[in-house]
Amino acid sequence: MKLNKVTVDDLNVKGKKVLVRCDFNVPLKDGVITNDNRITAALPTIKKLIADGGKVILCSHLGKPKNGPEEKFSLAPVAVRLSELLGKEVVFANDDEVVGENAKKAVAEMNDGDVVLLQNTRFRKEETKNLEPFSSELASLADVFVMDAFGSAHRAHCSTAGVTDHIKDTAVGYLMQKEIDYLGNAVENPVRPFVAILGGAKVADKLNVISNLLEKCDTLIIGGGMAYTFLKAQGKEVGLSLVDDSKIDYCKEMMEKAEKLGKKLLLPIDTTIAAGFPDPIDGPIDVQVVDADSIPADMEGLDIGVKTQELFAEAVKSAKTVVWNGPMGVFENPTLAKGTIAVAKALADTDATTIIGGGDSAAAVIQLGFADKMSHISTGGGASLEYLEGKTLPGIAVIADK
Ligand code: ATP
Repeated sequence: MKLNKVTVDDLNVKGKKVLVRCDFNVPLKDGVITNDNRITAALPTIKKLIADGGKVILCSHLGKPKNGPEEKFSLAPVAVRLSELLGKEVVFANDDEVVGENAKKAVAEMNDGDVVLLQNTRFRKEETKNLEPFSSELASLADVFVMDAFGSAHRAHCSTAGVTDHIKDTAVGYLMQKEIDYLGNAVENPVRPFVAILGGAKVADKLNVISNLLEKCDTLIIGGGMAYTFLKAQGKEVGLSLVDDSKIDYCKEMMEKAEKLGKKLLLPIDTTIAAGFPDPIDGPIDVQVVDADSIPADMEGLDIGVKTQELFAEAVKSAKTVVWNGPMGVFENPTLAKGTIAVAKALADTDATTIIGGGDSAAAVIQLGFADKMSHISTGGGASLEYLEGKTLPGIAVIADK
């Protein structure tokens, strides 16, 4: 099923007040934005709405304020950065109530093409519970609602879902459209062979992803910490490696499922081991590489080995679509980042459509300098995972179909 949502291209916003839910949840250190990728990613939609003569009212959450307004979670720094990037004034409607007197006044004074940024939506306690009256207050500011916060689309909050109970005209922005196109097409309509690569710490975090991707892909590659539960399920000794004993049967089931569906399930054939987890995580560590069936009982597997790097790279080579989520090892440590780098490189070298599913793997790809070699790097870790699980994201479901 391909999603076919109303997009900003289908709207006529001239003179209209447009509320846009963005994902401006940027990392801040001492009030300074350390990475503005999320702001840059929101620009195409904002510029389009400005050019079309809309009155552009932006909203977003930032961080996790627990008890209402807190200065350190203010969106003020985002307004400054956004203003620089747009080359035009962004009026910051600083308002503890988010939709209080300041916000209402700022909106009332807008001309066509003006931009106002509201304060952090999570300053309102209703936001994460999707409760009134915040949803209707947000809606009261605007004629049209545009959802462009993919990173928050897996949450039904006032600003991602509830607000649409009160605004008839809804659309997705360009960022949402791009995420839906790439992730949706990869999962529902992939050009084959379709190779999915999963890593990261725990099997338990990705139970539904593993199961769903097995049905959709041709080859499922499993690396990272989660691989050792699979190896143990095959009867192998995994020493001190990360294992979830309660998921052994699940892993057996998945291996049977792969067999039954005729899908290839690739697990590490060798692994980089050490006497224990690095402490500090990026500190020096003595490692050796052993075959996956020769992990000594007193050693811990912390990365895929060289033969596995080659095996995984080979599988990627013939692919036409690759989706990757989760690092192959403890990539925070340079000695244990080799597997993750090798996979990133294999993806960079292929002419397949390559999609990075957010979170740690996205950070790794960007940090390693491979970002511009990938077809798409998702801006939403949790949201992209839920998408890969085959779930319907509330922030997408509420937007009108074409
Ligand atoms: P996100 O959940 O943010 O999308 P992710 O899905 O990319 O991230 P996680 O499941 O959070 O990945 O796991 C990433 C963590 O897994 C990293 O911190 C890494 O150090 C750790 N990890 C990878 N391999 C191993 C291993 N063999 N043993 C222990 N930890 C590991």
